[in-house]
Amino acid sequence: MKIAIYPGSFDPITNGHLSVIKRAAKLFDEVLVVVMINHQKPVGCFSYDERIELIKRCTADIPNVKVDYYDGLLAEYAKIKNATAIVKGLRAVSDFEHEFQQALTNRELNPDVETVFVTAGADYMYLSSSIVKQVCQLGGDVSKFVPPEVYEDIVTGIKKKG
Ligand code: ADP
Repeated sequence: MKIAIYPGSFDPITNGHLSVIKRAAKLFDEVLVVVMINHQKPVGCFSYDERIELIKRCTADIPNVKVDYYDGLLAEYAKIKNATAIVKGLRAVSDFEHEFQQALTNRELNPDVETVFVTAGADYMYLSSSIVKQVCQLGGDVSKFVPPEVYEDIVTGIKKKG
């Protein structure tokens, strides 16, 4: 069975993430969407439990997608899960340098896992969780940026954080 891991912060999930998840689900037998706990990043807008719940809700109709979290090295998680691939979404050249460095490091740490880059959907090239938070905090409409099932909760969550 070919298992892929799609790691990220997902604070919160956007249509850009969902488009990568849907495409990865067609390529692999199972896709594990993993909320990575990053102690170096400032506390996010959504708790890890909330992020997981939001992802679960908008991937509920994709049977080969599972949602998990991990506090540690991605290469180690890949070993534990017997994963074949780490999926990364690429939006623009600016994503590339960092992702390339990560991919080579992960290969060094775990030669059995390959990083696979999926390009962003053309409509979502500009989209990030930070953009969603910025627009929403300033009172803009983010309904085009996030899946409809989680739209209300995302808006409420961002506004609560101020
Ligand atoms: P961000 O906070 O920038 O949205 P994440 O850490 O949650 O980033 O992103 C997880 C993964 O999803 C990364 O590989 C990132 O490049 C990718 N990604 C994020 N947004 C998009 C998008 N709009 N299109 C394609 N890939 C994306």
